[in-house]
Amino acid sequence: MKQNEILEDGHGRRFYYLRLSVTDVCNFRCDYCLPDGYQAAPNASKTPDLSVAEATTVMGAFARLGTRKVRLSGGEPSLRKDLPALIQAAKTTPGIQRVAVTSNGYKLPSVIDSWHHNGLDQLNISIDSLDNAEFARITGHDCLPRIRTGIDRALELGIQTKVNAVLLGDGAQSRLSQFLNWLKTTPVTLRFIELMQTGDNRDYFASNHLRGSDIEQQLIESGWQLLPRAIDAGPAREYVHPDYAGRIGLITPYSKDFCNSCNRLRVSAQGKLHLCLFSDAGLDLRETIRAGDANALAEKVRALIGNKEVSHYLQKGNTGGTQNLSIIGG
Ligand code: SAM
Ligand code: SF4
Repeated sequence: MKQNEILEDGHGRRFYYLRLSVTDVCNFRCDYCLPDGYQAAPNASKTPDLSVAEATTVMGAFARLGTRKVRLSGGEPSLRKDLPALIQAAKTTPGIQRVAVTSNGYKLPSVIDSWHHNGLDQLNISIDSLDNAEFARITGHDCLPRIRTGIDRALELGIQTKVNAVLLGDGAQSRLSQFLNWLKTTPVTLRFIELMQTGDNRDYFASNHLRGSDIEQQLIESGWQLLPRAIDAGPAREYVHPDYAGRIGLITPYSKDFCNSCNRLRVSAQGKLHLCLFSDAGLDLRETIRAGDANALAEKVRALIGNKEVSHYLQKGNTGGTQNLSIIGG
């Protein structure tokens, strides 16, 4: 591959989108992700998370390879006090056109203005239920009203705002009605994500997995219409309805051909390249990142892209080395 040619794998997929995890630590205990909370590895001295300078090198390298959009994720990215500086570093990287953050939103009202000031274009907040008590049960934190105040402020600031809701079997219909009610007047995109099996949640997955296609069928029958997909968009199929201010997206990783539209790569907070959310292990880039040479890093990533598999093989029960999604940011 030549320098400045857009990164493409052996299956013809091009990568416009980088998900950069800035920490694997989280303060929530979501049932499907970290039910016992974040556990530091015993007796291990943890490699420090990427510094702002290192993250800048990573984003610079990916921008040279055609990346246009960066999402900062975690763990919980807002646990990093320097998240505004990371947002600014992404925003000022030549070639990066959109900067997004995925967060549980627990301190959103007090931080959203600074994220906006530093260049945030898009915000994804995870809310699995609009019922305060149910939200507290799922996440271990009784703070939904505060998160909703933060979302209102993000909308006031003109930030494109999406809400991620993992589809969970029990009580799905009542959660769907509450969300639909909210979307009548709230201009956010609600993205239902099918629960994915990870190394840690096998039993939970077996009793809670719900197919996104069941919800999708209901939406189509009640007049929701599918929108065309942008090249740097996520994997969601997005629907609109004339009676609703908000939109609905569906992310269905178990559907046939889901991986054909893969356009993203992931780098962990420890500086490992994950060619897939469910690959066996990350490929260690830390030494090259630490050296600060974005060109050398870009060439290294180019050399590794040929190892990307055609599918995640989740349907076959493969979860690779992914114990939970907080490790590499979902
Ligand atoms: N802590 C932040 C948050 O929750 O938004 C960012 C990291 S979290 C891993 C990113 C997204 O992955 C969240 O929307 C979360 O609900 C989703 N997620 C986590 N585990 C999942 C699983 N097993 N299946 C589907 N989605 C999952
Ligand atoms: Fe934390 Fe996000 Fe995982 Fe919930 S889904 S435990 S908020 S990393």
